[in-house]
Amino acid sequence: MSSFNYDLLVIGAGSGGVRAARIAAGHGARVAVAEEHRVGGTCVIRGCVPKKLLVYGAHFAEDLKDARRFGWNVPKCTFDWTVLRNNVLAEVDRLNGLYRQNLSNHQVTVLDERATVAGPHEVVLAGGRRLTAKVILIATGATPAVPSVPGAELGITSNEVFHIEHAPLRVVIAGGGYIANEFAGIFHEFGAQVTLVNRSNQILRGYDESVRDRLLQISLGKGIEFRFNAAFERIVRQADGSLRVHLKDGEPIDCDQLLFATGRRPNTAGLGLEAAGVDLDDQGAVRVDEYNRSSVDSIYAVGDVTNRVQLTPVAIREGHAFADTVFGGTPRTVDYRCIPCAVFSHPPLAGVGLTEAQAREQLGSVKVYTSDFRPMKNVLANRDERALYKMVVDADTDRVVGLHMIGPDAPEILQAAAVAVKAGLTKQDFDDTVALHPSMAEELVLLK
Ligand code: NDP
Repeated sequence: MSSFNYDLLVIGAGSGGVRAARIAAGHGARVAVAEEHRVGGTCVIRGCVPKKLLVYGAHFAEDLKDARRFGWNVPKCTFDWTVLRNNVLAEVDRLNGLYRQNLSNHQVTVLDERATVAGPHEVVLAGGRRLTAKVILIATGATPAVPSVPGAELGITSNEVFHIEHAPLRVVIAGGGYIANEFAGIFHEFGAQVTLVNRSNQILRGYDESVRDRLLQISLGKGIEFRFNAAFERIVRQADGSLRVHLKDGEPIDCDQLLFATGRRPNTAGLGLEAAGVDLDDQGAVRVDEYNRSSVDSIYAVGDVTNRVQLTPVAIREGHAFADTVFGGTPRTVDYRCIPCAVFSHPPLAGVGLTEAQAREQLGSVKVYTSDFRPMKNVLANRDERALYKMVVDADTDRVVGLHMIGPDAPEILQAAAVAVKAGLTKQDFDDTVALHPSMAEELVLLK
C-alpha cells in the first residue's frame, strides 16, 4: 500500500482535470480533485456552454425576422434577458451536478477547497489540511487578462457576463478575438449598440484573412462599430451610472457595459509552483514536455495552464493522454496538427489546417479554391449575407491542407470536413464525392 494519501491529486476540476481524474481512476488509481469554485471549469461554468446557449438565444432575433418571409405571421416579439440568463444558469447548475456525479461514480474524491502545491508530492488545502500524492496534476486553467488602465475595474470579463442584471443597450468590447466577436454578435442580436475596440488593425488574428474580412464586412453591415489601433486611456463612471471609455485617440465612447476580452492568462499565481521547483514561462504557464510532465518529475500539467492551445477538446485530450501514460501504462501524446476551431459569431466561422498565408509561406506552390455564395435560406429571407468557403491545396500533391469557412452552421460542417483534412485527403477525393443537394456543405465538393 502506497504511503501517499492519493495516487493522483488533481488541482482544478475543469475539462482537462476531470477527464484525467476519471481515466486515472478507471486505471485503478486513488484520485482526488481539489476545486475552489464549481466542477466543470471555464467551458461548462463560464465559457463554451453558456456562451453557445446565448448564441442560440441571440439567433432567434434573425430567425423571427426571417420567418415572416417564409409565411409565418410573427407578432412583434420582445426579448427578456432575465428569462434567458436564468435558464442558462440553471443548465449550468445541472451540468455542474452531472460532472460531480460522474466523478463520484468513478470513486474520485472532490475536495471543495483551493489547493496549493507545497512540494513535489504535497498539497495544502485552504483549510490547512495537508495531503500527499504520488503524482500531482495542475489543471487550473486560465483567467481573463485585463489591461491595466485606470478604471478597468468598472468593466466586466467573461467571468461576469453570464450574470449581468440587464441586457445592455450600449456595449464596448475590448479585444478582437474569440470572445469579443462572439459577444459582439450576441449583444447586437439582443438589440445593443456594440463597439469593438482592438489594439491592432484586425480581428481574429490567426484565422484565414478572407473569412476574417468577411466577418468584419458582415458585422459592419449589421451596424457593429469597430475602432482599430485603439488603446484604452481610462474608464470613468458618469453621473447617470453609465461608463465613458476614453481612448488614446479619437472620441470617447459612452456605454452601459464594458466587456474585456483581451486574452486569458494561465492560472498559476499563488499556487506554490515556483517554490516547488516547477518551471513557468514568461506568461506564467507551466512548461511541460510532450507527456505533460513539468520540470518536477511528479508534477504534471494539462490544459490552458500550459498555454499551448487554449481549447476545451485539447485540454480533454491532454488529460486523457496524461492518465493513460502515467496510470494506464500506455504512453500517449497529443497530436496538435489539424485542430479544427470555430468562432460562434453571427454568422459563425470555422477553420482547420493551414491558412492561405501559412500555406504560401510553408509550401512550394499552393492552389486556392473558393465558393462565395448566398445560402438559399438567406436568399428567400432577403438577407444579404454571403457565405465564403475556402480550400487551400498543396499544388504539388493535391492534398487539402486547409479549409476555412464562414456562414450558417460553418462549425457543424467543418467538424465533418476536418476528418478529411486530417486524413490527408486530396482535392480529387473531395471532387469524387457526390454532392448532397441542396445543402451548403455541397459547395465543398463542387469547388472549381
Ligand atoms: P483571444 O486571444 O482570442 O483575443 C485576444 C484579443 O485581445 C486580441 O484581439 C488581441 O489583440 C487583444 N489583446 C490581447 N492582449 C491585449 C492587451 N494587453 N491590451 C489590449 N488588447 C489585447 O482571446 P479571448 O479573450 O477572446 O479568448 C481567450 C481564449 O479562449 C482564446 O484564445 C481561445 O483559445 C479561447 N476561446 C475559444 C472559443 C472557441 O473555441 N469558440 C471561444 C472563446 C474563447 P491582437 O491579437 O489583435 O493583437
